[in-house]
Amino acid sequence: MARVWNFSAGPAALSEEVLRQAQSELLDWNGTGASVMELSHRGRHFIALAEEAERDLRELLAVPAHYKVLFLQGGATQHFAQIPMNLAADGQGADYIVTGHWSEKALKESAPYVKARVAASSAAQQYTRLPPRAEWDLDPRAAYVHLTTNETIHGVEFRDIPDVGDVPLVADMSSDILSAPLDVGRFGLIYAGAQKNIGPSGLVVMIVREDLLARRPRPLPKIFRYAEHAAQGSMLNTPNTWGWYIAGLTFKWLKAQGGLAAMAERNRRKAELLYACIDGSGGYYRNPVDPAARSRMNVPFTLHDGALDKPFLEASERAGLMALKGHKAVGGMRASLYNAVPLQAVEALVAFMRDFMQRHG
Ligand code: PMP
Repeated sequence: MARVWNFSAGPAALSEEVLRQAQSELLDWNGTGASVMELSHRGRHFIALAEEAERDLRELLAVPAHYKVLFLQGGATQHFAQIPMNLAADGQGADYIVTGHWSEKALKESAPYVKARVAASSAAQQYTRLPPRAEWDLDPRAAYVHLTTNETIHGVEFRDIPDVGDVPLVADMSSDILSAPLDVGRFGLIYAGAQKNIGPSGLVVMIVREDLLARRPRPLPKIFRYAEHAAQGSMLNTPNTWGWYIAGLTFKWLKAQGGLAAMAERNRRKAELLYACIDGSGGYYRNPVDPAARSRMNVPFTLHDGALDKPFLEASERAGLMALKGHKAVGGMRASLYNAVPLQAVEALVAFMRDFMQRHG
């Protein structure tokens, strides 16, 4: 069976080369005579894999030496709660920048471990723009400032990360990590669920500045303490070894593609092509987001007549374009254009959209 063009928001398309490599060595990985899933995480083969994956990620993102890289579990959602547990003392405040569904959720899940404040929000604009930095009401005593660099559902993305002064910046990058070069040094903590740009679900990658790991705001079981995970090389308990392995293959694939500068250029072209199709359709297709805040990774769009949604989805599936149905919070369609979605997929989508418009004008 031929593979389809996969526009899923997550779990999302993985590089076909990565999948083929995993397939070819599924039964006998690295000459061990066993699958990578069947090996001890404490054995020398897996330890070498784990270390290499971390080295490759550090190289891709130019992670400074005073940051730890952790390979954790629990999904990004667990860390919505675990981050305040680790970074904020009882009664301390933290500032949240609310720009869509996921930052809203991060804010809600932070209770009861921190007094979260909405320092800026674009809820009144239905999350169709980013609140300008000049309107952010930041508290210099906050334990941290939290933002979501890319809102997977609303399709808004920070291209330039605003300056927040000396308060550590904590960023959920689940849906745009590794899509472009990043100045890690501007962040206190970066975290991302793997299932968009990194690998399979069940893995969370975290990059955290060492001084934040030294915070001990409250007694916590070891399993909830990031410092403990860091001290044990993310092997405090059995990690998601399969996820770590696929992430490692994906990092190698990204390096072979020319690294994050090359990915950024590719992602820019993909997004430009789709937005141009939407904007050039005379209102047949619409994306409501302020062009300055439009996501390169997730492009939500509606058809001018909601009655066309069903025929659009059915025809797109017949055309080999998968998972274009939008999230119920915003309706319509959504095309996710993560790293592993090639330009060719977006070309096929745009050709389909133009053809559909002609046939259903
Ligand atoms: N943050 C963002 C930006 C997301 O897109 C998602 C999932 N789509 C999450 C957090 C939640 O991730 P998980 O399901 O891994 O908890």
